[in-house]
Amino acid sequence: MNLFEKYGLSKVINARGTFTPLGVSRSSAKVQQAVAESLGEFFIIDELLDVLSQKVADLFDVDGGTITHCTAASITLAVAAAVSGDDPQKIALLPDTSNMKNEVVLPATHAVNFGQPIVQAIRLSGATLVLAGSEDKCILEEIERTLNHKKTACLLLVSSFLTKGDPLDFKAAVKMAHAKGIPVIIDGAAQDMRVRELLATEADLVLVSAQKYLSAPTAGLVIGKSDLVKAVRGQFSGIGRAMKPTKESLIGVLAALEEREQLDFSKWNQEQLEKVSLFANKLKGYQGVDTSLAPDPAGAPVTRIDININADKFGISATELAEELKKHQSSIWLSDQNSQNGQLTVELIAVNDKEIEVILQAIQRLSKK
Ligand SMILES: *Cc1c(COP(=O)(O)O)cnc(C)c1O
Repeated sequence: MNLFEKYGLSKVINARGTFTPLGVSRSSAKVQQAVAESLGEFFIIDELLDVLSQKVADLFDVDGGTITHCTAASITLAVAAAVSGDDPQKIALLPDTSNMKNEVVLPATHAVNFGQPIVQAIRLSGATLVLAGSEDKCILEEIERTLNHKKTACLLLVSSFLTKGDPLDFKAAVKMAHAKGIPVIIDGAAQDMRVRELLATEADLVLVSAQKYLSAPTAGLVIGKSDLVKAVRGQFSGIGRAMKPTKESLIGVLAALEEREQLDFSKWNQEQLEKVSLFANKLKGYQGVDTSLAPDPAGAPVTRIDININADKFGISATELAEELKKHQSSIWLSDQNSQNGQLTVELIAVNDKEIEVILQAIQRLSKK
């Protein structure tokens, strides 16, 4: 009996991308095996953390890194690290930050909700939030003005397609903060394939989720300068106790990083492009369906497929199609945030050829024309 039969669970085809409510990603056989092996063993966790830090240093050409439970935890603990440093007394006082530099600047355009408002993840450390600019516009000068506070501990920028307004010049923002001695943290949760690019902004820490495209167990990778990495590790004896990494996540992330090291990126990229083109072309033949390829707006090497449904010609609307697909024998999930405008979006990185056929047939069968 498999897990689905044993517990009466729905089989899922996830064409929605790295979506937390569906379990985010699928790990490779190698990563699965490493995790399974780790669960039967004891380790000196500090040794594992040191090995991981060295692996991160080698892979990304930085001082080092650590992991937390997930990126939401990394945001809280990276901010805590900027506020308390690795002083054990200050770490023990958090989230009480009185008498500490405790203000964190965030562009208001980046006050996203990734399943939790990012401002809450920041405040959980005890820091006070200062928003720069307004909800739909933040320019460098507005950030500069907030940096005049004597109490500013760090500047946090996010890079994802949840943000509003024009893209910020990260390099210039980092330079401004550094001129005032303020460290910068970048939340690049889904940007694990762009870590080097984000580090090139000179940011002190880059945060990425190991369970997204890296397809490791759930963990938050914290990558960058050694003093802040050390201060993040220090939080595990304080507010970070509830956000600590597990042995299986440490081993799983190491295995996934080793696979990433071996990845022939241009070959992988080519295969992904062929996969989406083939899918888009097949769907284009359906009555009332049009498709176009959508490169990732944040610059991640992910090409999605926008599917536009003409309800009159297809027979049901995009919203109805998305709902019907979820009721399929294997529950099929696509992005439906734009379904009111007749658009559904598909991401195929974690979808295998067999599942692609199931999706295509299901869409064809649901056409009422
Ligand atoms: C996914 C995501 C997060 C949260 O990451 P978790 O690892 O699930 O905690 C934070 N910020 C952004 C921009 C994200 O995309």
